[in-house]
Amino acid sequence: MTLHIETPLIKSRALSLKTDRTVLLKLEGLQPSGSFKLRGVGFACEEHKRRGARRFVAASGGNAGYAVAYAGRELGIPVTVVVPQTTSARAKALIRGEEADVVVHGASFAESNAYALSILGEGDAYLHAFDDPLLWEGHATMVEEIARQTERPDLLVCSVGGGGLLAGVIEGLRRVGWNDIPVLAVETDGAASYNEALKAGEPVTLPKIQSVATSLGANKVSARIVALAKEHPVRNCLVTDAEAIQGSVTLLEEHRLLTEPACGASVAALAQVPQHFPNAQRIVVIACGGVGTTSQQLLEWSDFCRLEGDQIGASRSNEVKASESQHP
Ligand SMILES: *Cc1c(COP(=O)(O)O)cnc(C)c1O
Repeated sequence: MTLHIETPLIKSRALSLKTDRTVLLKLEGLQPSGSFKLRGVGFACEEHKRRGARRFVAASGGNAGYAVAYAGRELGIPVTVVVPQTTSARAKALIRGEEADVVVHGASFAESNAYALSILGEGDAYLHAFDDPLLWEGHATMVEEIARQTERPDLLVCSVGGGGLLAGVIEGLRRVGWNDIPVLAVETDGAASYNEALKAGEPVTLPKIQSVATSLGANKVSARIVALAKEHPVRNCLVTDAEAIQGSVTLLEEHRLLTEPACGASVAALAQVPQHFPNAQRIVVIACGGVGTTSQQLLEWSDFCRLEGDQIGASRSNEVKASESQHP
């Protein structure tokens, strides 16, 4: 028995028609903790319990902290989650709902993480959100399932925050002998720490993160995914916040799935597949899920983008009219 569940892989008729390719969705949002994080976190927590851990400590107001809280309750191990002051009341309530202690400390993730490390005592296991081989090992089970669920795809698409998911996906591809299947790694413009790391050849720290896709907001990616990009065919791409939001709206309207823009980003990246992988016909999108976005928030963002879009559209058409009227 594992803490994570086997998730469905479904063919998306809507996305297949839109892209003129076969698009399959790996529905990781259906994990009991609402995101793929439970695969790696669950695996790591079970391992720490075997090694005698008496408490799990994590620093994350997001899906990682929530997954640790879930795993701890299931395994009967107390959990302390340190979150920054910016964490929403809703996120704290979700974590407390899994019976974890929530400690609010620090203005940023870096500060709450430093605090989490400082309170570690004997018998405590620290759970990182993305930079830990145990996590990658657990995330890799996702690709083993995909290999049982479908014939060989031409491409996998996944989102990148700190790179735990990407490292796990590549490890999984290796496990099933799909070493040559490429991955399209997706970030939003305002959270492009992987893009910057690839340009620099090593992880670099972004001065700030500015994106609605908060789960992609790691300032610095793991060294592991920079190294992996030299060993495995990986392309990376960027989408706008508006595109990521639209990706989540598509999952909601076409598949009745509520996800964060961090997940919608991977759906939005399908539009860039022809440019990066013109011959990819069969595409698996990791629909990584996320519990951080309410339906109301998603629809508000979507309305806002539509309004902005209309305004831009309106001013452009005015410009067009103006220049036409000047024409002799
Ligand atoms: C954590 C998370 C990501 C990013 O995963 P990394 O392992 O940090 O790259 C993407 N989407 C969701 C919903 C997440 O919870």
